[in-house]
Order: sequence, then C-alpha cells, then structure tokens
Amino acid sequence: MTQVPSHATDSGMPEVSEIGPNAVIQLIHALDAAGLQPAAKEIFSEAAASDWLAEPPSVMVDERPVAAIHQAVRRVLPPPQAAVILADAGLRTGDYILANRIPKLAQAVLKIMPASIAARMLTKAITAHAWTFAGSGKFSATAGKTVTFEIAANPLCAGEHADHQVCVWHASVFQRLFQALVSPYTRVTETTCGARGDDCCRFVADWTTIPDAANIYASRRSAPIAGPSETISAR
Ligand SMILES: [Zn+2]
Repeated sequence: MTQVPSHATDSGMPEVSEIGPNAVIQLIHALDAAGLQPAAKEIFSEAAASDWLAEPPSVMVDERPVAAIHQAVRRVLPPPQAAVILADAGLRTGDYILANRIPKLAQAVLKIMPASIAARMLTKAITAHAWTFAGSGKFSATAGKTVTFEIAANPLCAGEHADHQVCVWHASVFQRLFQALVSPYTRVTETTCGARGDDCCRFVADWTTIPDAANIYASRRSAPIAGPSETISAR
C-alpha cells in the first residue's frame, strides 16, 4: 500500500475508457466454476465478445464490451443466479488483488490496526486505483464510521434500466477487500444505482453492524472512530 500513489493523475494513467481485465477474467472463472459454460457462450456471444471467452484479456481493456458482458449476465441468467455469479466474480477479483496487488507486509499491518484506521488506509489505496475498476465513471470515497464509495456514470451499468441495484460485482470486490483487511464482518451494500435512475452507484461498507455482538474479535476491531469524515477524491 505504501507503493500506492496518492493520486491517480500521475503519468501512466491509461485512457479513461478502459477497465482492468479481471472484470472479464474472473467472471469467466465464476461461470466455469458454476458449470455454466453453455450460458457463458450465450452471454459472451450476446455481448459480441466471444473472442475473450476463448482467450481472456490480460491487459486493460475497453470498458464498453466489459459492460456489455456484465449486462448480458443480468439478462441471460435468472436474477438470483446472475447475482450469485457476479458476486463470485467480485470475490475472485478481490482475491486476485490480495494475492498480486497489495504487498503482504501492508496487509499484515492493516490487519493489526484498529478497523477504522485500516478502513481509511484501504480506502485511500482503492481510490488510487479507481481507474482500474471505475473506468470513465467518476469515483469518490468518504471514510467515516462507515465507508461510502460512489461511482457516478458507472460504465458497467451504463444504459441499463432496472428496478433494483445491479452492481453486485463492484460491491463484492469492495466487500472481499474489507473482509480480508478491515473486518471479516464487513458488509458492502449498494444503496443507490445508476441503473435504477439514481444519481450514482453508491456502496456502503459497514463493519460495525455485527450480528454476533458477543464476538470478541469483532468488538475489538470496531472501536469508536475518532475525527470527522474525510472525503477522498479519485482525481
Ligand atoms: Zn449500480
């Protein structure tokens, strides 16, 4: 995490219309693991991205076909199954980030910190890398008693219309990272969604509302949070 630049505007930033390949790669793995290879063919064909099913991308990719794939998942599969697949793809993406993108020493440090401090540090790191998962969307984060992530004009649900929040993949990526590094009891909920006509996709990470209040580990990690909220901008 110490290697992370404080802003994503440094040189080397890719075109804003690109997104990390794990949004595709881990979705393929999730479909495979669920035994949904035939549905995967249909989904990628409908998204005009069959090439990627045969040979998954390995570098930053145009966000538009990625959005088409994610939206095709939500059209082709029954809603509960689509949610399960997108959640698994997000969890796998989080695992990839933990295995390859956040130094082990930084992870060890975060794990022994009070949850509120770990949450702020993780939020800064996520913000610095927002371009890898938010593409052309406008990302911001606010860290306080909980952490709120916002993606305005989220490219993965661009042009999509639904009567519910659809961005399960993003919520799942955030949740996996928070569960590993802040508190295993973190829940990330998408509270508003662009696909529903809201002003942005808004995700709330909450590690303080713990079902099992008697859990000693959890109570230790949810100590009172000092200081006001701070807004961390991606750009
Ligand atoms: Zn959304």
